[in-house]
Amino acid sequence: MNFPINSRVLLAWQQRCQPLSGAHYKAVSCRMWRMSLHYDLHSHSIASDGTLSPVELVTAAHDAGVDVLALTDHDTLDGLLDAARTARALGVQLVPGVEISVSWQSQTIHVLGLGVDPGNETLQAGLAGLREFRHWRAEEIGRRLARAGIGGCYTGARALAKGNIVGRTHFAQYLVAAGHARSVREVFKRFLVNNKPGFVPGQWTSLEAALEWIHTAGGLAVVAHPARYHMTSSKLRRLIAEFRAGGGAGLEVVSGSHSRDNITAMASLCRNENMLASCGSDYHGPQNPWIKLGQLPALPAGCQPVWESDRWPLQ
Ligand code: AMP
Ligand code: MN
Ligand code: MN
Ligand code: MN
Repeated sequence: MNFPINSRVLLAWQQRCQPLSGAHYKAVSCRMWRMSLHYDLHSHSIASDGTLSPVELVTAAHDAGVDVLALTDHDTLDGLLDAARTARALGVQLVPGVEISVSWQSQTIHVLGLGVDPGNETLQAGLAGLREFRHWRAEEIGRRLARAGIGGCYTGARALAKGNIVGRTHFAQYLVAAGHARSVREVFKRFLVNNKPGFVPGQWTSLEAALEWIHTAGGLAVVAHPARYHMTSSKLRRLIAEFRAGGGAGLEVVSGSHSRDNITAMASLCRNENMLASCGSDYHGPQNPWIKLGQLPALPAGCQPVWESDRWPLQ
């Protein structure tokens, strides 16, 4: 087993597991080992709309005391190789992940694939299709903003993406830098959401396909930041029912973008629906000082963490 080298945790684990022996020792000690680790299962690098390189991201996670980090860039696996190399060198356990954009009942939702095989061709081909749409959409956002009197946005956003996928965050960062708004949040509100000049409806993949790609690649699927979709509770339950029918396993109960109330509500939903619970910061870089790597509240009592389940792909 490929344990991260973290002497503090290793010592605690060894001490706790001392009285056990044989197969029992192995099973219980693995479980206790996993329980004592510090998890952050949702983060972004410059391969999508984060600002740190994968090397910088994993280093920052290590410095923040994260033992197990999932890199989950939007619709790409490009950062995973560099991240895995750095993780190995620093003794961080990297969970190879992805955050897939899905269109479901006229809404965009995000599905995390955790523990996916980056070499899986089905997953790679599916994500390539989404990036093709992203490429067209970025040009279209640029055209629409130009029609609204703001030129140069596509070129500006593309420069910020540094050769990677151009996402809405890059447009937002460019518009702030060019003085059209004071914050990224304000740009989204004024320019990039439904009924605003730079809005282009998402034409992502289906929930069924996203789940199939993740499972074919050996991963476990989690609904990202479920409270962020502002769905009625009956719609959210319909989403979860469909998600579960397609083999989906968990809900991201603790997220950097969930309030305390959101966490309580999602924890109770998670327990009632018998789903596994995940936690991730959704870190995009140090420019958002209110979201830090690994500094997350604990999963509420009664939630079964994804990493304690038999379905966790990284045993
Ligand atoms: P995209 O996948 O290119 O449509 O962009 C979605 C990303 O934009 C999300 O993952 C967030 O990083 C960011 N985002 C979405 N809404 C907002 C918002 N209101 N304020 C700031 N960032 C946002
Ligand atoms: Mn993002
Ligand atoms: Mn997301
Ligand atoms: Mn995310």
